[in-house]
Amino acid sequence: MMSSVPTIMPTYGRLPVSFERGKGACLFDADGNRYLDALAGIAVCGLGHAHPAVTDAIQRQAETLLHTSNLYEIPLQTQLAARLCEISGMDNVFFANSGAEANEAALKIARRYGNERGIDNPQVIAMEGSFHGRTMATLTATGNRKVQASFEPLLGGFLRAPYNDIPAITNIAANNSGVVAIFVEPVLGEGGVQIPADDYLPKLREICDDRDWLLILDEVQTGNGRTGRYFAYQHTNILPDVVTTAKGLGNGVPIGACLARGTAAETLVAGTHGSTFGGNPLSCAAALAVITELTDGGVIERAAELGERIKNALVEQLEGLNHVRDIRGKGMMIAVELDNPCTDLIQKALAKRLLLNVTTDTVLRLLPPLNLTDDEADEIVEIVTSLVQAAGS
Ligand SMILES: *Cc1c(COP(=O)(O)O)cnc(C)c1O
Repeated sequence: MMSSVPTIMPTYGRLPVSFERGKGACLFDADGNRYLDALAGIAVCGLGHAHPAVTDAIQRQAETLLHTSNLYEIPLQTQLAARLCEISGMDNVFFANSGAEANEAALKIARRYGNERGIDNPQVIAMEGSFHGRTMATLTATGNRKVQASFEPLLGGFLRAPYNDIPAITNIAANNSGVVAIFVEPVLGEGGVQIPADDYLPKLREICDDRDWLLILDEVQTGNGRTGRYFAYQHTNILPDVVTTAKGLGNGVPIGACLARGTAAETLVAGTHGSTFGGNPLSCAAALAVITELTDGGVIERAAELGERIKNALVEQLEGLNHVRDIRGKGMMIAVELDNPCTDLIQKALAKRLLLNVTTDTVLRLLPPLNLTDDEADEIVEIVTSLVQAAGS
């Protein structure tokens, strides 16, 4: 049973519940009922709800200055960019307000990089099963027909490869001269928490190096500690040329970032891109507080450890059940894949006051706050176990 509000465009099927306030990993409805949040606003509230340091940063900044303009220096934006570059190994940053917009900036870098090298029809390789956003360029890059259907004409300039398939990329390379970039998620998020081989990113890096292509990573979902490193590529020893992030960066305050290195960092010059709101003082103050908490507070290490704990507990409870196809995860991106569609588990979990998500119809997905308590982690395991067990009977 999904509800709808007549004055809201029905782009989302909404669950019949709303929340009045939150604290840590818990949300409360108007009657004071407590829900355990194992979705965190789709990987946004990594520090949980109403985190005091983030609240404090927002309050102080709101009292001081919300917005000026990118026509002026914005010291908080400069500070945030420096912090992100230090963490990522990138050289500079463009700030946007969402994941899709961060990706738009990355795709504009790829096209301009190509055009500047005399490639007048530059092509970007994007993956099957990927999700990159809902704007025209990002839905074209997205490897899911459901996201694209009825929005034709799509943009030109994209080639498609299966995820986690290196031979497919070398095959494309052999047959196309206009490729300028590979655009890829380090773990498919909306595409069902698909975790590629450990050497997938290093091999993509090598292919890009050999051909002067840009390696562009979409870390909109995997970034900001979600997988147990600040960025998921930091599980390997490679650096991308461009990396985008958004979701967890502001813990709920809208902000996106496109980070670049080397030639890619020199591609967008004055007049080639912009954003009215991007990187304004309020969003940057929030993001700086988030990064400080994530990195100084040991939250990311804790996410790596807790993620393993939750995944292992689920394996222990659910492994061997006939209808359970796979249990996998990286940090706090955790999935239980069933052999049948299981979207009904969203409602069943809600009835048990647990918020979770199902992607690609058969993948139960957990994206909890990174700073869960041990008890909250155990509670998630217990409820998910009972839901999955019942789904098989
Ligand atoms: C959510 C998501 C996006 C889109 O982000 P928005 O903020 O909704 O525009 C892009 N890429 C990935 C990998 C995502 O998970």
